[in-house]
Amino acid sequence: MDRVNPATEESLDPIESDDEADVEAALALADEVYPAWSERRLEERRQLLQNAAEVLRENEEEYAELMTREMGKPIEGARSEVEKCAWVCEHYAEYAETYLADDVHQSSPEAKALTSYEPLGPILAVMPWNYPFWQVFRFAAPNLVAGNVGLLKHASNVPGCAQAIEEVFLEAGFPEGAFQSLIVGSDPIEDVIADERVRGVTLTGSEPAGRAVAQTAGKELKPSVLELGGSDPFVVLEDADVQTAAEVGTRARTLNSGQSCIAAKRFIVHDAVYDEFVSAFVEEMSGLTVGDPSEDDTDVGPQAREDLMDDVHEQVQETLDAGATLETGGEPLDREGYFYPPTVVSDVPRDATMATDEVFGPAAAVFRVESEDEAVELANDSTYGLGGSVWTEDLDRGERVARRIESGCVFVNELTKSDPRIPFGGVKDSGYGRELSEHGMKEFLNEKTIWVQ
Ligand code: NDP
Repeated sequence: MDRVNPATEESLDPIESDDEADVEAALALADEVYPAWSERRLEERRQLLQNAAEVLRENEEEYAELMTREMGKPIEGARSEVEKCAWVCEHYAEYAETYLADDVHQSSPEAKALTSYEPLGPILAVMPWNYPFWQVFRFAAPNLVAGNVGLLKHASNVPGCAQAIEEVFLEAGFPEGAFQSLIVGSDPIEDVIADERVRGVTLTGSEPAGRAVAQTAGKELKPSVLELGGSDPFVVLEDADVQTAAEVGTRARTLNSGQSCIAAKRFIVHDAVYDEFVSAFVEEMSGLTVGDPSEDDTDVGPQAREDLMDDVHEQVQETLDAGATLETGGEPLDREGYFYPPTVVSDVPRDATMATDEVFGPAAAVFRVESEDEAVELANDSTYGLGGSVWTEDLDRGERVARRIESGCVFVNELTKSDPRIPFGGVKDSGYGRELSEHGMKEFLNEKTIWVQ
């Protein structure tokens, strides 16, 4: 696997990929280890997850630097990501017993009827490079503690992270085979999903990858969870705290150098506060520090790959050609590395590229609306439905508007974020199924009914 540091364009040492025999050996080991793993006492699995949290914290700097090197994440964000992975491990170590407790059905008094939650077996996770630790841990923590075993096919540009994550679990004391990384591209994945030893598949990534994986999972009758992209609306109503909305909106658009599925992408602003918002937003966006991701004070690093930066630039250009106005940014930086500056494009026509497509970089599209109804209608005028954010000083109104937005989650006066305690996932082309919380834990469990007469 070739690796390139996106900040310097330097090649990193390549990592040897797994061949067919290695993949077969991994599947055989997963299958072999599963029965004993699933029968281990829950208390022991919880303790191992707690150990994993400790391993993550002990090696935080090493893992953070690895992410920064492989995909260019600003180092402060990389450290927070490792911390968040420790949190999700601790969360499931603490709550697994509660989440996995039987449901006793009181509505059938003539017999004892209950649902028990039982693991399925080896589960495959196809994961992306943008949060190379977090996306994996939010899958692994609930599944491992529930008794499934994990197989990871990570993105081809972060094989070092894939290996490091496998090491975390081994160092924490998990048995060999409970969690394994397959160092492969996407070609063998269809066969891995089809393999009878694999009992389910989850993918986080693009829509085409999601469709390919879901097609195979459907054909093979295996449960799947898809967390695909988003083009989240960030709705600023006329009674919003405009300055705070501009500050939080800037973070929401540029977090992880703009490469986040739940980043705010379409800023839908009421006419009464439009000029004030655009001016504050442009000031915030253009004030960010862009540069070396290994520096503590860098806000925006490089895009993870050159083709991804080129995609963002093309989307901005097409939107300007369609009649939008460039407020700041708009050209790749003239330096080594794949740097795209924080960019704001205003008065975006509804059929322009940045209105219809996901923009996976630090470029924001701003739309003008005349009313709450028009804001909701525009927010919902998307093939995606992942997250959303609504800004208003009237909290009842915020909740009302939130209920009208077609997405997996909406945050009022806050940016959209993932949190181990609450469910996460999308509707429409953003995918299906949920991750995190009790809901995410149950996606790959057999909800078994037991009736005792
Ligand atoms: P991909 O969807 O191609 O990559 C995500 C993962 O899916 C990687 O592990 C990739 O492997 C794998 N994959 C790709 N195609 C297949 C397939 N046919 N069968 C099985 N696995 C597959 O994303 P990109 O890296 O190309 O990014 C492109 C766009 O995807 C971004 O611009 C963004 O819009 C979206 N995206 C969304 C993410 C999210 O968080 N929802 C995360 C990343 C990207 P490999 O790397 O080997 O190709």
